[in-house]
Amino acid sequence: MAAENQMTVLEKREAGEGMTLGERPVPTPGEGEVRIAVKSVGIDGGVEGPFYRWEESYHRYEPHLPQVFGHEFAGVVDAVGPGVDGWSGGERVAVEPRISCGRCRNCRDGRSNLCTEETGFSPHGRKAIGIDTEVPGALAEYVNVPARNLYELPEGVTFDEGVFLELLAIGVHGIDVSSFGVGDRVAITGPGSAGLSALIAAREAGASEIVMIGADVDEGTRLPIAREMGATSTRNVADGPLDDPVDVFLEASGHESALHLAESSIRPGGDHVQIGVYHGADGVSVDFNGLVNEEITVHPVNARRESDWRRTLAMAPSVDLSPVVGPAFDMTDYEDGFAAEAAREGVKVVLHP
Ligand SMILES: [Zn+2]
Repeated sequence: MAAENQMTVLEKREAGEGMTLGERPVPTPGEGEVRIAVKSVGIDGGVEGPFYRWEESYHRYEPHLPQVFGHEFAGVVDAVGPGVDGWSGGERVAVEPRISCGRCRNCRDGRSNLCTEETGFSPHGRKAIGIDTEVPGALAEYVNVPARNLYELPEGVTFDEGVFLELLAIGVHGIDVSSFGVGDRVAITGPGSAGLSALIAAREAGASEIVMIGADVDEGTRLPIAREMGATSTRNVADGPLDDPVDVFLEASGHESALHLAESSIRPGGDHVQIGVYHGADGVSVDFNGLVNEEITVHPVNARRESDWRRTLAMAPSVDLSPVVGPAFDMTDYEDGFAAEAAREGVKVVLHP
């Protein structure tokens, strides 16, 4: 427990593996901000995990250390800054981590995920809580966030489940932008948070068949969880193209082998939804002639729009998210939490500040 007006944070202080528990002043919310008492924070295998392990893609943060990460989180409104209407304190909330201006064309269109004004240090070039160097994250007892980024948790949805809502909204986004119709057949590559979110969204939207495709590393835990969450079948990416091409293929792994599997597993006239991000300097090659010949429509999905949050919050009380959240650790046991993430235990490892 930190001293009065101080809070415990988990920060990376210097270049190298690991993080350190420390103390910082409890932040005072500024104009338009609220302070959140953080109850649960997710470890993102693409952000906090590699940052903790100090993988090369995060070395560009070195001049900006120390940094407090943590961008997937839920908590309680603890204090309200000047100019904030509609929040009084005590509300249980999930938080949109992307910071947006609210004024640009995309924000006005309900697409704040593509805000053109709030540029930042994150890999996608936009400002995000707990990823941008200027905006400390939620691996802390308290964090300030813009009030416009709050979504009240529905009754019965736990803080750990609240962490997963921003991920579930990505799957909802993917199904919503495609031409998916009730009864359609769906395949998904990558049974991580994003792929399992797409699975839940497809199930709730009325898919007749959902094939979840993983790799060897997914056979032990994540493919069985996919079956528990409603996949009608699971298979290994090494098994090759689907015998019966699907209407909508959601690629959520970011692996080139999955992209090529998709190219040969979508029915003519069907949809390819790209959720996974391909890392590496060279990118991937796409067979555009194949897309033209078969009239495959590609829908890129980047985070979530306001409408995806609305649909997700409406769905959340009736969806059992317990198989995809956890294991959970006290933040002081962060080493165990990051070890669990690295070992791919469960789906979404969470820490409790
Ligand atoms: Zn904007």
